Amino acid sequence: SKELGKNTYSIYHDSMEEDLAERILIEKQLRNAIYNREFTLAYQPQINLKTGQVIGVEALIRWNNPILGFVSPNKFIPIAEETNLILDIGEWVTQTCIQQLKAWKNTRFDSLHIAMNVSSVQFENIQYLSFVNKLMENAGVDNHRLEIELTERTVMNNADENIARFNQIRAKGFGLSVDDFGTGYSSLSYLKKFPLSVLKIDKTFVDGIPQEEEDISIATAILNLAQSLNMNAVAEGVETLEQLEYLRSLGCNFAQGYYISRPVPIKELEEWLTHNNS
Ligand code: C2E
Ligand code: CA
Ligand code: CA
Ligand code: CA
Repeated sequence: SKELGKNTYSIYHDSMEEDLAERILIEKQLRNAIYNREFTLAYQPQINLKTGQVIGVEALIRWNNPILGFVSPNKFIPIAEETNLILDIGEWVTQTCIQQLKAWKNTRFDSLHIAMNVSSVQFENIQYLSFVNKLMENAGVDNHRLEIELTERTVMNNADENIARFNQIRAKGFGLSVDDFGTGYSSLSYLKKFPLSVLKIDKTFVDGIPQEEEDISIATAILNLAQSLNMNAVAEGVETLEQLEYLRSLGCNFAQGYYISRPVPIKELEEWLTHNNS
């Protein structure tokens, strides 16, 4: 009816206006967030499933804004990307990860790597790699300690141009991992040409283990692919002991997820490592 049509329209319209208002507010608050020191990094341990040892951590950004409170990166990263604010944010993330690696030098944590999420917008900036190289040199940190995480979409977007850059990254000794693997469209012929070090099995597949046949098949296929391409595989989003054990039985070497630890502030991570990795 006309009534219903009008209602539906008005609900849709209101929520669009709300979304837009929220977006504008987020963008406005994001502009000063670095200056106001509103970002922190949380670190989530990644473990070797065979030995139980922690091999490294993934750095995940956290934003606590006085007006908006905690805003999920799933919400603000896309806005930061559309507005290019991600360039400054990504620079802050990169500096902070490398400072952390430097702070860990000559401590009991100095064999851990940090896996850092790098947005496609950031990665496509031609100055980015030399920026990373310079910071690592100044910090005097072994390049193997830093792993660059790109989503499958970023990796496959501009695949031809990426090959040269990936080769540079790996020649310098940095790790290069493919995030959210299985959710985008990978060309297998490119995967073979890319010098990647890690495939991360997306949480959406891990969620279905061990109940869903399809998810087990996909995880198995990804593990076989990683093995035949000489890459490591990390399962992400492991929430139960069952998932952890099943993944181990499939031959998956590495995992991260709430079952092991949530992403935590640096002090908490160091305490956790002291109690869990001795
Ligand atoms: P991602 O890189 O795929 O990171 C994994 C997400 O899953 C993180 O969400 C993490 O906190 C969450 N997670 C880890 N283990 C579990 C688990 O067992 N169960 C559940 N339910 N979730 C788990 P988070 O921290 O909210 O980050 C969301 C996304 O935002 C990230 O997805 C990444 O794409 C992006 N992001 C986070 N930090 C950065 C950053 O520093 N730079 C860039 N460019 N993107 C970032
Ligand atoms: Ca990631
Ligand atoms: Ca992921
Ligand atoms: Ca994701």
